[in-house]
Amino acid sequence: MGSDRSGNDNLYAFAADRLRDLEAVGRLRSLRVVEGAQGAWVRLDGREVLLLCSNNYLGLAGHPRLAEAASEAARRFGCGAGASRLISGTMTMHQRLERRLADFFGYPEALLFNSGYAANVGVISSLVGAGDIVFSDALNHASIIDGCRLSRAEIRVYPHRDTEALRGLLEKDRGAGRRRLIVTDSLFSMDGDLAPLAELVEQARRYGCLLMADEAHAVGILGKKGKGAAEMAGIDLGIDVLVGTMGKALGSFGAFVVCAPVIKEYLIHHARSFVFSTALPPPVLAAALAALDIVEQEPGRRAHVAGLAHLFRKGLCRVAARHGRLGTDAESGGPALHIQGLVLGDDRVASAFSQGLLERGVYAQAIRPPTVPVGTARVRFSLTAAHTRRDVEYALGAIEDTLQELCGTYPEAMRSLGVVPSAGREGREERR
Ligand code: PLP
Repeated sequence: MGSDRSGNDNLYAFAADRLRDLEAVGRLRSLRVVEGAQGAWVRLDGREVLLLCSNNYLGLAGHPRLAEAASEAARRFGCGAGASRLISGTMTMHQRLERRLADFFGYPEALLFNSGYAANVGVISSLVGAGDIVFSDALNHASIIDGCRLSRAEIRVYPHRDTEALRGLLEKDRGAGRRRLIVTDSLFSMDGDLAPLAELVEQARRYGCLLMADEAHAVGILGKKGKGAAEMAGIDLGIDVLVGTMGKALGSFGAFVVCAPVIKEYLIHHARSFVFSTALPPPVLAAALAALDIVEQEPGRRAHVAGLAHLFRKGLCRVAARHGRLGTDAESGGPALHIQGLVLGDDRVASAFSQGLLERGVYAQAIRPPTVPVGTARVRFSLTAAHTRRDVEYALGAIEDTLQELCGTYPEAMRSLGVVPSAGREGREERR
């Protein structure tokens, strides 16, 4: 008994120590409560703030059509599926949504998962195993990394978006491994840049690999029809296993894979996160179906977000040009998209920047390691169809003011970023 007790004491002490360590390096996080529904402006800690860190890209999370569809489904089919899909949890709504998703993407089959995290972990760890090789982009999402680790396959991490380096690895491993998988985010969630999907399709074919792309941040919002980055790149059906989520642009919850029938059947039997988890509940399935209708019927939502992204990029470039070495995504030369960031480097400076924005009524999260590599802490901004051009101008004003404030509190860090105190800015957009 005594030794058990001291073991627990150690664990409590360990947890408290780790939290203190995180605090000391500016990485302690907290759960902030949004009151009411998600939207462009939300109440946070009793104040109305401009929300610029939500993945609700099409502004559908609080849409009345989704709410109505979910309520109707709850009344007709109930609030829970009651069991995993392979027991008795497969309901007509699952079947309907899987058919709808497969048709929307033009693939033969679709399979639902309970989240994007569960999809990536389940798909990768079942498709490859010991004796296989996974080629994975260095900035892939944590759920892809965890899926790779769980698989026990050999992992070759290639530098971010570097298809030449990948080609080198594929050449070196020619003929090695029983099965070979290339896996990438399609739109990288922390940098807002795109994977070179067309080249990856070409390399996967040439080197006999399966290609898996995670379109979590692109489904619904990129491509003419909202099918994602693959559609945007003109290689709609070139991805063998395409993962998408319903909790971001589709305003609901859960995830899916679109793929060939044999892959679906295989995953039903082998993906442990599919097999051993209760099926998604009917209301979220109905909301996702309603969201897909809106994605098809209202392309203007995508166009509006694209317009805001251009405006925001132009504004960030203006700020960066005034402040020498401030890192923006614009440097990648890629298109201006709905995710953009300002790299501040130091964790504490990024946190202070986020806090300064919040004090000015703009809620944008600091993203620090381990989510991004050490030394690249940043504030990530995401734009949604619910925002207006005026919101964007307001945010840009707050960004400029906060940078100026940090010149006083973190003068050295700011100087190293090239940010210098200035007399003030023009064209201030007042809060609505
Ligand atoms: N894939 C990517 C690229 C993500 O950014 C995320 C979540 O943020 C996920 C997967 C996980 O999706 P979900 O939130 O549905 O678990």
